Amino acid sequence: MTDLAHASVAELSRLLDAKKVSAVELAQLFLARIESHRALNAFLDVRPGATLAQARAADARRAKGETGALLGVPIAHKDIFVTRDWASTASSKILAGYMSPFDATVVDNLKRAGMVCLGKLNCDEFAMGSSNENSAYGNVLNPWDPTAVPGGSSGGSSAAVAARIAPVATATDTGGSIREPAAFSGVTGTKPTYGRPSRWGMIAFASSLDTAGLMTYSAEDCALVFNAMLGFDPKDSTSLDRPREDYTRHLNDGVKGLKIGVPKEFFGAGLAPDVEAAVRVALAEYEKLGARLVEISLPNAELGIPVYYVIAPAEASSNLARFDGVRYGHRAATYADLVDMMKKSRAEGFGPEPKRRILIGTYVLSHGYYDAYFIKAMQVRRLIAEDFKRAFAQCDVIAGPVTTSVAFGFGEKAADPVAMYLADLYTVPGSLAGIPSMSIPCGFGAKGRPVGLQLMANHFEEAKMLGVAHAFQRATDWHRRVPAGC
Ligand code: GLN
Repeated sequence: MTDLAHASVAELSRLLDAKKVSAVELAQLFLARIESHRALNAFLDVRPGATLAQARAADARRAKGETGALLGVPIAHKDIFVTRDWASTASSKILAGYMSPFDATVVDNLKRAGMVCLGKLNCDEFAMGSSNENSAYGNVLNPWDPTAVPGGSSGGSSAAVAARIAPVATATDTGGSIREPAAFSGVTGTKPTYGRPSRWGMIAFASSLDTAGLMTYSAEDCALVFNAMLGFDPKDSTSLDRPREDYTRHLNDGVKGLKIGVPKEFFGAGLAPDVEAAVRVALAEYEKLGARLVEISLPNAELGIPVYYVIAPAEASSNLARFDGVRYGHRAATYADLVDMMKKSRAEGFGPEPKRRILIGTYVLSHGYYDAYFIKAMQVRRLIAEDFKRAFAQCDVIAGPVTTSVAFGFGEKAADPVAMYLADLYTVPGSLAGIPSMSIPCGFGAKGRPVGLQLMANHFEEAKMLGVAHAFQRATDWHRRVPAGC
């Protein structure tokens, strides 16, 4: 029988269908693996009782004759999604132990499809970061190399999937937080079009950018889970009211005759040679499979980081205003009056990175600076989106590196916020444009650390993008490599 811990969602689904394994057995297996890989610090909250209750419910549904690709398949959720049966903290002290009265729509959709929740995954505080070093609950280790960061902010999600302690995990991407950790941890990380997944119950960071997505072993698994996860949600005012889609429909289309745009700006001086080499080999593989590479230009992409670091903190400063010690979350033990209570609660509850963002955001939104920074950033954001529009007139998908280097070591960038912000140089432009984008494993670079290939597609073309990824994954086995001891 297939080695269950290394089986894909598609394989687990077939085994459940064939009654070769039960949802309870799968839940027990992964709960045991979570325990034996505790040192990774990927999970923040594990409650075997709640997990096994969901697994028993899935088995009962199957016993009654119900089928469904995901019925009984385990999943873990980034601790940015609120969950009724597990604490929801956004990896912040300000929400320590917080129990939500409801499940996020993404969580709920997957639960209805019968997925069994394994628990909540560590991340950067309020999804702010690129290394998971901003979590109030400690670093997550990269399963490929415990001296390297797993990437962030969805570092718990990428590490859990890389170490095969969860077959799939939810994640969120505001400026790169799915693709960057996927690249650093050697897994497939996919962000759909902004507005496809509901943001309801996703603890807000930057509302015009926040997009839920997945860490999986493969593009095929991602398509299967997207089928249940994505869709219109009347509870989210930015949710797109479009018909449901079958995201698996282009998986076997191949890439013959496809035009792959290669942005010349993504291969500049900042790109490490080991990453460039692996990405070039991957691009050559696509040529072998019948695709044509065309050089494209995204002239405003280099402005992505400064634009993002105005818009995202501006939105964050507003979103984080709700943590005031009154409604929920941490409240200071002693205070003089209401204002003092709010000040102390926020000072004690937030870590340094959210504080930094609140300061920047409040500054760029304040009278006198709003036009110079915020409005200007919004204008350049439009230019970046138009770059992509022009590019997609010349090609079907875009491919290039995800990150400038392989995973860096702990502490290497932690003291220099700007160096850390630059980790998202190639991911932020796609976020600002709201297009679907993903990272697939394509080799290894310095110190044996994984390299990711980024694929981007036009709005609503995630099914095509997943097909392009699947073609690569049928021809190569990078996505099947597993770290030693996992
Ligand atoms: N690293 C970026 C930041 O710190 C992106 C984070 C994200 O996508 N959530 O904001």
